[in-house]
Amino acid sequence: MSADHSRLTSSAYSQALEVIASVEPRIAEATRQELADQRASLKLIASENYASPAVLMTMGTWFSDKYAEGTVGHRFYAGCQNVDTVESLAAEHARELFGAEYAYVQPHSGIDANLVAFWSILAHRVESPALQKIGAKNVSELTEADWESLRKELGNQRLLGMSLDAGGHLTHGFRPNISGKMFHQQQYGTDPETGLLDYDAVAAKAREFKPLVLVAGYSAYPRRVDFATMREIADEVGATLMVDMAHFAGLVAGKVFTGDEDPVPHAHVVTTTTHKSLRGPRGGMVLATEEYAPSVDRGCPMVLGGPLSHVMAAKAVALAEARQDSFRTYAQQVADNAKSLADGFLSRGANLVTGGTDNHLVLLDVSSFGLTGRQAESALLDAGVVTNRNSVPNDPNGAWYTSGIRLGTPALTTRGFGHDEFDRVAELIVDVLGQTQPGTTKAGGPSKASYALGDGVADRVKAASAEMLDKHPLYPGLELS
Ligand SMILES: *Cc1c(COP(=O)(O)O)cnc(C)c1O
Repeated sequence: MSADHSRLTSSAYSQALEVIASVEPRIAEATRQELADQRASLKLIASENYASPAVLMTMGTWFSDKYAEGTVGHRFYAGCQNVDTVESLAAEHARELFGAEYAYVQPHSGIDANLVAFWSILAHRVESPALQKIGAKNVSELTEADWESLRKELGNQRLLGMSLDAGGHLTHGFRPNISGKMFHQQQYGTDPETGLLDYDAVAAKAREFKPLVLVAGYSAYPRRVDFATMREIADEVGATLMVDMAHFAGLVAGKVFTGDEDPVPHAHVVTTTTHKSLRGPRGGMVLATEEYAPSVDRGCPMVLGGPLSHVMAAKAVALAEARQDSFRTYAQQVADNAKSLADGFLSRGANLVTGGTDNHLVLLDVSSFGLTGRQAESALLDAGVVTNRNSVPNDPNGAWYTSGIRLGTPALTTRGFGHDEFDRVAELIVDVLGQTQPGTTKAGGPSKASYALGDGVADRVKAASAEMLDKHPLYPGLELS
């Protein structure tokens, strides 16, 4: 931020907090405290970032007050001319940035975007008379018999996605999730030796299972995916390829992932969040080929509640930012920093799933420290290092305690961290985990949750982090009065 810019931001936020405090001072106080806490912690959560003040401010306006169900120019409410401007601009930026034929910017989150995508793929592909009718008429005209036949058709569809413990997302067919209930699902994993995606195995599964939807994308896989090959697999079995790029959209936007690694030219439908590596407001988005546009457009109110116009406005601002050259520099730095972090661990003898990274995240296997993911996550938090525990492939500790820690570079890269800082972060994490002893249960057996952190470790690590964090302030120049 320029000096002028930070002076404006400082006074805008200070005054806004005064207005809030006049109604509910505890909320103003919590808001101040959240900034202080975020500034003081080493945020390594791979799905988080820091949106710009311009993005954040865009969310705090009267656009929040407007109902706008429907699509641009076809609303169920009057007076949507300014929402139309906002939604059109956000979609235009998204199409231009990603080279997509069509963009839908209404989803409230990544999961909502996936629900819209599932709906749209079903509506587009399933040749059920009931769905044909939905395509042709108003939903309210459908009879109970129409819905009955629709339910039968939908319940018979198949989805193949990446398993949760290999790094896939809950919404990619995990049985307890709605995606695992609305579809017959099967999962593909990673090679047990290398931890890498095995495309031949995915193809073999697809040939046998013949899914309607093949889902690619992940939340905790530290490698790039060859989407051209995934599309070949989908085409061979007649599936629709849906790519969920929620985690790595920033690397696609910043042209770190190009060619076969760019999902947009290869997938029929691409879904994403806007708040992870893309660094926008909390929200979701669907990109698609023209063919799928009419069914995606029915997302609201078919699957989604009324659009959040203030968030769509913030998406437009964030997407405009992502079209600047500086965002490409940022995205490349995110990937370079992940390499520095991985190398920092490997050079200190730690184990990484797949032996490294070539995206924005690292999955550290903490079992060599004698710890569960849960113990490691808690000990790190005591030392001011914010991470999340995560399963490793075929995790012996299950999805709750886990054996891994997932670390991402998008947030601290936004603060200006580079190679040296990320090498130091690896050193500090190895230091904390090396000084953490697993605890015992009341009965005297090994505990998966309790632990003891060595004396003085937390203070030492916090001091070392503070030195780096002070050198790379969050929202430099932003001071609240
Ligand atoms: C984070 C994530 C989501 C969910 O996003 P929300 O905005 O939390 O709903 C969906 N898919 C993938 C792959 C994700 O990583």
